[in-house]
Amino acid sequence: MAGTFQSIRGIHDGLPAEVARWRHIEQIARTTFARYAVHEVRLPVLEPTELFVRSIGAATDIVSKEMYAFVDQGNDHICLRPEGTAGAVRAYLQAGLTRAGMQRWYYCGPMFRRERPQKGRLRQFQQIGVEWFAAPGPVSDVEILAMAHAFLQALELSDLRLELNSLGCTRCRPAYRAQLVEFLRQRAEALCRTCHERTEKNPMRVLDCKEPGCQQQLQDAPEIIDHLCSDCATHFQQVRTGLDALDIAYHLNPRIVRGLDYYNRTAFEFVTDRLGAQGTVLAGGRYDGLVRELGGPDTPAIGFAAGLERLAMLVRESSLPTPDVAVVALGQETLAWSMRQAEYLRGQGLAVVHCGGGGAKRQFKIADREGARYALIIGADEMRQQLVTLRDMRSGEQRAMRIEELPASLTT
Ligand code: ATP
Ligand code: MG
Repeated sequence: MAGTFQSIRGIHDGLPAEVARWRHIEQIARTTFARYAVHEVRLPVLEPTELFVRSIGAATDIVSKEMYAFVDQGNDHICLRPEGTAGAVRAYLQAGLTRAGMQRWYYCGPMFRRERPQKGRLRQFQQIGVEWFAAPGPVSDVEILAMAHAFLQALELSDLRLELNSLGCTRCRPAYRAQLVEFLRQRAEALCRTCHERTEKNPMRVLDCKEPGCQQQLQDAPEIIDHLCSDCATHFQQVRTGLDALDIAYHLNPRIVRGLDYYNRTAFEFVTDRLGAQGTVLAGGRYDGLVRELGGPDTPAIGFAAGLERLAMLVRESSLPTPDVAVVALGQETLAWSMRQAEYLRGQGLAVVHCGGGGAKRQFKIADREGARYALIIGADEMRQQLVTLRDMRSGEQRAMRIEELPASLTT
């Protein structure tokens, strides 16, 4: 029955079954990332609004319309983080780590964007993000892609496609951008309204518009890949050679542009056809200019973020763990002793629920519903002899034993 209050539109509850999937995915991320010597950071959810305006760019969808930004009681302009990279760079600079060598970080936590809620598109969602600072290319590009690939393989998501592009750099992009703007202006009438606006402000973003009408128009659009300067072209070639050496398959996709201003050179997405328009489950790229943009020294960096909810829709059902033992206490006088036995077994590392005493039939029903593997039946006579009866809930087989014998008898 629905109560008086509902969660905010596009903001969902993580109930136990869903959280079990999230934990499974996080666990695999932690294990995989550890093999690449990547360390966890836990960064603030609230950041100064200006941080995102400076880093992501005022003309992006995120900054222009999706941020949960407000002025607090002290007149500070504050924002619920829409993504993790800007905050990570801020923390990296604030901690004075720019001379500390390569820093490899990951984080997992909620991000907030006020976009139109759809399947796989929420207003509060979680990202597993990775940022490598002072990470020169192309080895870092290849290795971070190898790590993302290993993570997704470990999740048994082998039907994902890696799409790869290079966005060039501040030297080669302007000329390309000008050509693209020219191309888009000629087709202005046929583009959607948003793309019409983007043409002048953020033209590369038009390339990954999800409107079929726009995609139709873009078939002959100029491609950045044909306009790379020689340094960017060499870098990209080395990334491709590295991926080939590691047998990581990829598709070149000139439409991968990322929505954020700070990316340069390598850009990538891992996509699926199983989630409709929300098919990008992991996306990232190089952002060599961002550390400087936020006040630090020139620092090459690369990162990615994966949407936890989107991954959770793809991984196979991971069931909730069920208790090992359900305690069935028969008779009021056994209650206290039965609770002590439950605590004892928990101390031995078993997962135990107590069925609460009362009628036997009701308690067995609870044991059943909990999915317990065994019922531990405690009656008054047995208690006097310090004995318990263990019932296998599947076979119905019963055995009397001393409680101390129980943990070992379950493992054998
Ligand atoms: P999209 O093109 O789908 O809007 P994006 O380019 O905005 O994605 P990023 O900012 O790169 O996405 O975020 C990285 C990942 O985080 C995405 O690939 C996706 O898996 C996830 N993600 C982004 N926005 C949302 C959202 N609103 N709800 C759920 N997951 C999201
Ligand atoms: Mg988006």
